[in-house]
Amino acid sequence: MLSEFSLISRYFTRTPSANSGVDLGVGDDCALLAPAPGMQLAISSDMLVEGRHFFPGADARLLGHKSLAVNLSDLAAMGAKPVGFTLALALPALDESWLADYSAGLFALADEHGCQLIGGDTTKGPLTLCITVFGHVPPGLALRRDQAREGDDIWVSGTLGDARLALAGYRRECSLPDAELAAAGLRMHAPTPRIALGLALRGIAHAAIDISDGLIGDLGHILERSGVGATVNVDAVPAGAVLRTQESTMRRNYAMAGGDDYELCFTAPPSARAEINAAAQRAQCEVTLIGTVDAIPGLRLIDRSGKPLLLQVQSFDHFSTP
Ligand code: ADP
Ligand code: MG
Repeated sequence: MLSEFSLISRYFTRTPSANSGVDLGVGDDCALLAPAPGMQLAISSDMLVEGRHFFPGADARLLGHKSLAVNLSDLAAMGAKPVGFTLALALPALDESWLADYSAGLFALADEHGCQLIGGDTTKGPLTLCITVFGHVPPGLALRRDQAREGDDIWVSGTLGDARLALAGYRRECSLPDAELAAAGLRMHAPTPRIALGLALRGIAHAAIDISDGLIGDLGHILERSGVGATVNVDAVPAGAVLRTQESTMRRNYAMAGGDDYELCFTAPPSARAEINAAAQRAQCEVTLIGTVDAIPGLRLIDRSGKPLLLQVQSFDHFSTP
C-alpha cells in the first residue's frame, strides 16, 4: 500500500524548472519562491468539493485540469502571470489510477502556463481539491474590480452559457443530442483560463473579473466595487456554440446568468477599442463589446432594439442557490 509520502513523491513531485522563480519546491517544510524584482505577488485560492462543484465519479483527468484552471482564471482576471501553486488534497481512498489521471490533467495545464507545483497537503477525507496560485503583476497594472469608470465599454471574452447548458443537460432539465451535450460538457469540465488575454489587457483595461458565477452577478461585483452602474445589450452577449442553437429565453438566461464559463468580463474606455482588439488578437481570444458603464447604480438590461428587458435569472450563490 502506498504511503502518504510515496504518493506525494510519485504523483506530485517534480524538479522545478530553472529560472521559474521557484528556488525550492515540494519536499521541505516550505517552498521557497524568489519573487521577480519589483513585482507584486497575486495570490488566490479555489476549492472544488465532490458533490458540490463536480459530480461523484467525475473524470479524474478533467478534474486535474479544472481544479487548476479555475485558479489560473483568477490570475488571468487580475492580469497576473502564473508562477506556482500549492495543492491541498483530501482523498477518500488511495486510488492509484485516479491519482495518475488527476496529476496528468493537472500537470498538462500547469506546463502549458509554466506554473510550478511547489507544495501542498494530503489527507484522508471526502474528495476535496484546494489549490492556491501565485502570480506576478507589475505594481499599478493589476486589473482590479474597483476601477471601472463612467463611460467605459463593457467587454466579454469568448462565449457564455454552454457550461450551464451542459448542467441542464446532465440534470435532464432539457434534452440535448449526445454530441451537443458532449460539446457543451467540455466547456463545463475543461474551461480555458484566459491568461494571455489578462496579460495583454494590462495597462489598457480599467477593471476585470472572471465569470465563474454568471455574467450578471460577476459584472455586478465590478459595478458595486467601482460605485457605478451599467447598461448591457443582452442580444450582444455571445452565447456558446451549442447554446446558440437553443430558443431565445434559454439562450439569454444561460448566457447572462450561467456559471462555470471562466471567461473574462472587463471594462475599458471607448478610446481603447483598437488597442483592445489588438490585444485580443495577440492573445488569440475573441472579445465582444456588450454594454456601457454609466453613473446610475444598478444593471439595466436591454435587447437589440434598445427595449428594457426583465430576465428572471439569478447568479449562483452557494448559500442561497438551492
Ligand atoms: P508538513 O507536515 O511539514 O506540513 P507534509 O508531510 O504535509 O509536510 O508534506 C511534505 C511535503 O510534501 C511538503 O513539502 C508539502 O508541501 C508537500 N506536499 C504534501 N501534499 C502535497 C500535494 N498534494 N501536492 C504537492 N505537494 C504536497
Ligand atoms: Mg502538511
